[in-house]
Amino acid sequence: MNCQICGKKSASIKKVTKSFGRGPRLVVIEDIPVLSCSSCHES
Ligand SMILES: [Zn+2]
Repeated sequence: MNCQICGKKSASIKKVTKSFGRGPRLVVIEDIPVLSCSSCHES
């Protein structure tokens, strides 16, 4: 998969867990696919 930033073929899809908000309104979203590049480290 080509990186959209540097154009190299070192990008891959990673799944991450992110949390939004804080306290009782904390929302955790799991398995968000992000494009991660090992060349420029963009995601
Ligand atoms: Zn890149």
